[in-house]
Amino acid sequence: MSVLPSSLPRTAPKTLTELYDCAIIGGGVSGLTLALQLAQAGRTVVLFEKETYPFHRVCGEYISMENYDFLCRIGVPLAEMNLPKMTRFTVSSPTGEALHHPLDIGGLGITRYELDQLLARLAVQHGATIQEGTKVTDVVFANEQLTITVAGGATYRARTACGAWGKHANLDSKLKRSFLESSRQGRQFVAVKYHLQVPDFPRDLVEMHNFKDGYCGLSPVPGGLTNCSYISDVRNLRAHGNSVAEMERQVLMQNPLLRPYLQEAQRAGKPPIVISQITFRERSTVETHVLLLGDAAGTIAPLAGNGMSMGMNASFLLYGLLLDYLDGRISRPELEQQYTQAWRRLLLLRITAGRLIHQFFGRPALTTLAIRFLKRIPGLTNQVLKLTHGKSY
Ligand SMILES: Cc1cc2nc3c(=O)[nH]c(=O)nc-3n(C[C@H](O)[C@H](O)[C@H](O)COP(=O)(O)OP(=O)(O)OC[C@H]3O[C@@H](n4cnc5c(N)ncnc54)[C@H](O)[C@@H]3O)c2cc1C
Repeated sequence: MSVLPSSLPRTAPKTLTELYDCAIIGGGVSGLTLALQLAQAGRTVVLFEKETYPFHRVCGEYISMENYDFLCRIGVPLAEMNLPKMTRFTVSSPTGEALHHPLDIGGLGITRYELDQLLARLAVQHGATIQEGTKVTDVVFANEQLTITVAGGATYRARTACGAWGKHANLDSKLKRSFLESSRQGRQFVAVKYHLQVPDFPRDLVEMHNFKDGYCGLSPVPGGLTNCSYISDVRNLRAHGNSVAEMERQVLMQNPLLRPYLQEAQRAGKPPIVISQITFRERSTVETHVLLLGDAAGTIAPLAGNGMSMGMNASFLLYGLLLDYLDGRISRPELEQQYTQAWRRLLLLRITAGRLIHQFFGRPALTTLAIRFLKRIPGLTNQVLKLTHGKSY
């Protein structure tokens, strides 16, 4: 049974003079779960999303089980959704050397098309105002308030503002975030996602296939489809005339385990979605009094498979602290400091581990060596998996 509503109930924008408790910029899982929790606690919240729900995103659509209790608590009926549950994985080197291993913590497959729309609908049902199709162009702090300006010039006021605008957005430049400078000098990646029809793809398996300077994940999602998403150094794309199809033929298909999927499987629905300018540089968690969460606060390498978990974990953390601030138990400097410290305690190790693992993979010789090594010491594979997954919250 699908729990996807046919369309998102529209919220009439409240008067532009209303002072919201919280304004959230960006409606992916991080922003939406924060909006939902605040609305459930009876706070006034406005969320801006530049796209219109439902829409597809580049994502492997694997949600680690550590989020199960949290998602159920905020009203996502996971048990009724008949989602594929993954309990084992395969990882291969560019030459096809493979490691098969159980995935103890495991995860569920759900499309972002469905999940984000569902979260948005729940938030609206609990009283949040969602301004979809609305791009934020500026956010300014003055007189203990944040003023948010959207395309077209309308402004909104809020006591607090949170930035959940993802990996790369106009507001990073607007706020002159320092990671941009170092990113320009470092490695840049592109990511691609589409759904495939692979009739016999097991419903309990995640596959991760490396190729030169990148890796591709395959995992089941509802509707009998298989998510295929990958990240590649941008040089692979440039070297093949900026053609995704040519890059796949010349680079990804060199991995013999990945080749049959890309060569033979039918693509379902939409053409591939491609995003660029991805970097994994360290970022700040607060920028001119805007509290950042999800990819906006730190993008984790997809190989670690848990960007959504980190965004939702941060939203849970931030939710508690925002209530403390809104109810006068802590000051704004305390809110910002406590959030930064708690975020680092909870998530920095995972981001750093993801970054380190990411360095290894995609380099043909190193990946092969790493896989051979891990095959000999299964306990080490469990440790690596533990580093990239968190605990239930
Ligand atoms: C190839 C690949 C595979 C991945 N696979 C997985 C996986 O299997 N499991 C997992 O947990 N994670 C995975 N991730 C990571 C995961 O997709 C992200 O960590 C997650 O989507 C971050 O959520 P978010 O809410 O922080 O940002 P996003 O989901 O990126 O949402 C940000 C939103 O902000 C909006 N926005 C931006 N600027 C503005 C603006 N100015 N005004 C209004 N709206 C704005 C955008 O339109 C967007 O909807 C993968 C990532 C990649 C690249």
